[in-house]
Amino acid sequence: MNDIEALGANLRRVARGRVLVRGDEGFDESRLSWDPAVDQRVAAVVEARDAHDVAAVVGYAGLAGLRVATQATGHAPAAFHDAILLRTTALRGLTVRPGERVARAEAGVSWGEVLTAAGEHGLTPLAGSTGVVSATGFTLGGGLSWFGRKHGFAADGVRAFEVVDASGEQATVTADSDPELFWALRGGGGDFAVVTAMEFDLHPAPVLYGGRILWPAKRAAEVLAAFRATTAEAPEELTVWFHILQFPPLPELPEPLRGLSAVAIDATYLGDPDEARALLHRFDRIPEPVFDTRGRMPVANLADICAEPTDPTPSLLRSELLTGLDEATAAAMLAAAGSGTVAPLAYVQIRHLGGALARMDEKGGACGRIAEPYLLSMLGVPAAPGMEEAIRQRQSAVADAVAAVTTGRKPFTFLGHGEPAASAFPIETLARLREVKRRRDPQGVILGNHPVLG
Ligand SMILES: Cc1cc2nc3c(=O)[nH]c(=O)nc-3n(C[C@H](O)[C@H](O)[C@H](O)COP(=O)(O)OP(=O)(O)OC[C@H]3O[C@@H](n4cnc5c(N)ncnc54)[C@H](O)[C@@H]3O)c2cc1C
Repeated sequence: MNDIEALGANLRRVARGRVLVRGDEGFDESRLSWDPAVDQRVAAVVEARDAHDVAAVVGYAGLAGLRVATQATGHAPAAFHDAILLRTTALRGLTVRPGERVARAEAGVSWGEVLTAAGEHGLTPLAGSTGVVSATGFTLGGGLSWFGRKHGFAADGVRAFEVVDASGEQATVTADSDPELFWALRGGGGDFAVVTAMEFDLHPAPVLYGGRILWPAKRAAEVLAAFRATTAEAPEELTVWFHILQFPPLPELPEPLRGLSAVAIDATYLGDPDEARALLHRFDRIPEPVFDTRGRMPVANLADICAEPTDPTPSLLRSELLTGLDEATAAAMLAAAGSGTVAPLAYVQIRHLGGALARMDEKGGACGRIAEPYLLSMLGVPAAPGMEEAIRQRQSAVADAVAAVTTGRKPFTFLGHGEPAASAFPIETLARLREVKRRRDPQGVILGNHPVLG
């Protein structure tokens, strides 16, 4: 029996879920992530059945000198060279306790599932633009939600994590039981323990307003001016994101979106629809919208606003936090993003942050605060060979155009593939995270997608 066969035999002995190792039939499919361009060169894949399986695999890895990379949906992959890839997809328990405004979600539960369950009670979790990422993966990285301006980072709403620590022990981690690990898990990423479930706050959303207005790209300058003016005076209940989009010429896309170069704003408001319309009045004056989906909406439909792809897609992301967005910067950004189309990018997005995200919470986690009021993100889909370079060049051109208002810092959940954790944290936060990692996982058994010691 060679080493890899022995690994398979040992993992099958300790875990009840499916185990595949290099060379097994189906292994290459099982190690795929959501981004088919990222080659996850792991040694084995274990589909954990429950928290006991997780503990058994982590415990075994520690004894065998191996590393464990945890993945739920695979939306933020990494190479994870020679590690054991631990899939949490089967951990699907979800309970909502509306009276306490709390949910408990196991590690494989998606935001879409939590939105549906919480929405039935007029409550919302702090989910972001898509329903398909896991609530746990999003939250471990801090998590920038539609409602972050009002309620802060998703991570700071966690009451308890159920974990398997680096020594393979199961524990419930709270602010009282283990303040150090609790702090690191709230925004430091998946480098400190495997989370099997978490309990977190839900927020009242008896009336939710939201939607997208989309115009042809030639309206970009007017829409960006209205976005700047609207966000300058927005209450924390209102969140507006600006988008320049290039829709692909795919037959499955409906006309008029097929191949369209467009500009859009996406908005949510935690409150009365009439108040929301009044706050967004500047956008009503911009002519020729292709469509306007704004209106009262169920919490369960939150992810429909941006309608992001839900099928596996190769992607190259670059993000920059912006310290401001004055007229000159906005004009330079638009010019660099491309007149008429942002291709080869699929989109350039500016999210309005601020509010509770900018306030320091002394009891908060490693996510800290984001003082910058805007987040610029640029995403390209390298669908054909040779596109990667063109996408990176356009991202650099836009980043250079706004260089006067960037600091190089990015939110953890907006780090691109291969970007270091160091880009996400102030120096003292990074040092503290590294100290926690060294103390709590001296052997380096747990491997996050952006390791803090990397
Ligand atoms: C279409 C799209 C939209 C997005 N929108 C937003 C947004 O609005 N706001 C925002 O903040 N982010 C957003 N993100 C980023 C997203 O939050 C991160 O990519 C997040 O890491 C995805 O988590 P996942 O578990 O689904 O992905 P995975 O790739 O499965 O996991 C990512 C990493 O999380 C860690 N991890 C996951 N589960 C566990 C666990 N149980 N225990 C320990 N570590 C774990 C691991 O380090 C893992 O490598 C978006 C991403 C996509 C693709």
